[in-house]
Amino acid sequence: MRQMFNANIVADFAQHQTPFYYYDLGLLKNTLDVCNSAAAKYNFHVHFALKSNCNKTILDLIKSNGFGADCVSGGELIRAKEIGFLPEQTVFAGVGKSDSEINTALDLDIFCFNVESVQELFVINELAQAKNKTAGIAIRVNPNVDAHTHKYITTGLDENKFGINMWELPAVADALKTCKNLKFLGIHFHIGSQITDMNVFKSLCIKVNEVQNWFEERGMPVKVINVGGGLGINYHQPDAEAIVNFEAYFKIFNDFLDVKPGKEVHFELGRALVAQCSSLITKVLYIKNGKTKNFAILDAGMTELMRPALYQAYHQIENISKTDKSVDTKYDVVGPICESSDCFGKEIILPETHRGDLMAIRSTGAYGEVMVSVYNLRPAISFVFSD
Ligand SMILES: *Cc1c(COP(=O)(O)O)cnc(C)c1O
Repeated sequence: MRQMFNANIVADFAQHQTPFYYYDLGLLKNTLDVCNSAAAKYNFHVHFALKSNCNKTILDLIKSNGFGADCVSGGELIRAKEIGFLPEQTVFAGVGKSDSEINTALDLDIFCFNVESVQELFVINELAQAKNKTAGIAIRVNPNVDAHTHKYITTGLDENKFGINMWELPAVADALKTCKNLKFLGIHFHIGSQITDMNVFKSLCIKVNEVQNWFEERGMPVKVINVGGGLGINYHQPDAEAIVNFEAYFKIFNDFLDVKPGKEVHFELGRALVAQCSSLITKVLYIKNGKTKNFAILDAGMTELMRPALYQAYHQIENISKTDKSVDTKYDVVGPICESSDCFGKEIILPETHRGDLMAIRSTGAYGEVMVSVYNLRPAISFVFSD
């Protein structure tokens, strides 16, 4: 069995049941440390995007390392509170916040609502007024910057539903003059996910500077500059690059953002913090040899890991039972669910694989366990930690 797993734990647990998520807490801790020291260099604030992983043990570790919380639903706000994330380090985004979710956030006295439409400003103002409270808000601006990532995870283009378009900013400024229960804190951006081209973040910085100037020229000081998340990871070589280059990432913002004294720069990272610390461990149920293809049919499917079916995502797949790699064969690695999109990879080269072999689907710590579904009345998934 491969070295990066705690072999005993994986093998023992697999005797009782598969599939399960295996979490390497040591790698997570190292990743958090590297991120923290890189961000501390510039005094940057980092919030963890709970939507990428809501596992309580994972969240405990992230919270105890000083990260804030980035939530996109009332459920996540409540989870963040239960874990102990500080309200003054909690932000709340989402294009469709319900009244009840807004009320939850108001009751928790969170730091900032990232507001995604002009109408939402009026709704938050009204609900805050009813509670005799003032809500801190940042305007989520859609900067029309192409993230050069998969179209399903691009969020910062004119055609996307997220954020407020640049041409609506005058309406925002007018609304803020009348909304007495809102406190304008600053501006927010999030242009997409799995961004690996650092030039994209440079382009973002240039837009952020423009938007900041737009508000400040109108006498609205921008205290908070929240540039969102989206930093991508290496799905193709999870061991060669287990921790992303946070130094290079933060340096871009330090070099290109116009940050005057007294301003705060905030980030909302999900994937880059948690993706590499987990693998989905699954057992081969059947090998089927078709006329043109071999299929390896696993006991995990799109219900346990939805990313390949949802946005054609690549995950490295390894047979961790076989040490002898001498006979290489191509397999389409598929799940048991009654959907043709339930496929983890096509023509994957693996050692000759048999019923009962354990497979690791790598880099599943982000948008893995959180997206588990009960479709086909699948049972709940288990998870196991390295220590
Ligand atoms: C999803 C999301 C994030 C985190 O994105 P990653 O690509 O996982 O870093 C940050 N901010 C907002 C508003 C989001 O919706």
